[in-house]
Amino acid sequence: MAKVFGVSFLAIHVPLLSLSLYLGLGRPADPISILVVALIATLLGSILSYLAIYQMVSPIDRLVRAVDRYQEEGTEPFVEVRGSDSVKRLAEKVASLVRAQEQSLSALRRQANSDPLTGLGNRRWLQNAVSVEISRAMRRNQSIWVIAFDLDRFKEINDRFGHAAGDEVLMIVAEVTQRQLRPYDLIARIGGEEFCVVSADASDDFGIRAAERIRQAIEDWQPTLGGVATTITASFGVFRGDPASHSFNEMLRLADDRLYYAKARGRNQVVATE
Ligand code: GH3
Ligand code: MG
Ligand code: MG
Repeated sequence: MAKVFGVSFLAIHVPLLSLSLYLGLGRPADPISILVVALIATLLGSILSYLAIYQMVSPIDRLVRAVDRYQEEGTEPFVEVRGSDSVKRLAEKVASLVRAQEQSLSALRRQANSDPLTGLGNRRWLQNAVSVEISRAMRRNQSIWVIAFDLDRFKEINDRFGHAAGDEVLMIVAEVTQRQLRPYDLIARIGGEEFCVVSADASDDFGIRAAERIRQAIEDWQPTLGGVATTITASFGVFRGDPASHSFNEMLRLADDRLYYAKARGRNQVVATE
């Protein structure tokens, strides 16, 4: 502020200073010469004040453009302002406000998309992630395998060993399942004790083999709950979807139908046909 005032003050007084200097040096004092000196000095003063105003306003312009870009494209509005005036403080404040907003937004997004108990994605996350998987599978001529599975008689586990033990079982089932999958396969907890795996693969039995591996790994786990060696089992429905003609909701519904048959046929099994 003081700097801008100082430069403007100087700019206004350039003609006066120039004329004083001109006359003080004993140069010709005819009106034409004085007029020429005054004109040149006024021009110089104007250039000086234009530069001072430009110096002050151009960072604000850049800041406005950066905020516009942030609103349109999401790029962070970082504007470098030299010196230590209020415009620099304003640019820093805007950048730190935007950073804080981005952090709370990403925390909210994480909360809205993940299951706090198992750390897996939830149904909403799966819906989003699957759309990317479907377009990739279409380009690569792969099928989309949807595996829905649900723990068997889980209510009994809760009733016998308590809700906390049930929670522990859900957490470990998530880990055991992940170990049977490739890092890029999708897995979500889509209901209380229901999980869903989505994988793109071109082989004829990928989903059936993956479901069988998960089923076996859960059965083999044999946790000790409340001092009692327990067997946990789950029932699986597998559907092989064509990414060009099935929507994810259809595929999940058909996998769920098969899961229902697996329950009806005695549980702890994989069903892949209707
Ligand atoms: P089924 O073999 O037919 O699937 O029998 P089930 O007992 O597993 O099925 P049911 O739908 O009758 O019961 C599901 C149970 O899962 C009831 C509910 O209390 C429990 N459950 C759901 N979410 C959670 C959770 O987050 N933690 C715990 N501990 N239990 C849960
Ligand atoms: Mg169940
Ligand atoms: Mg259930």
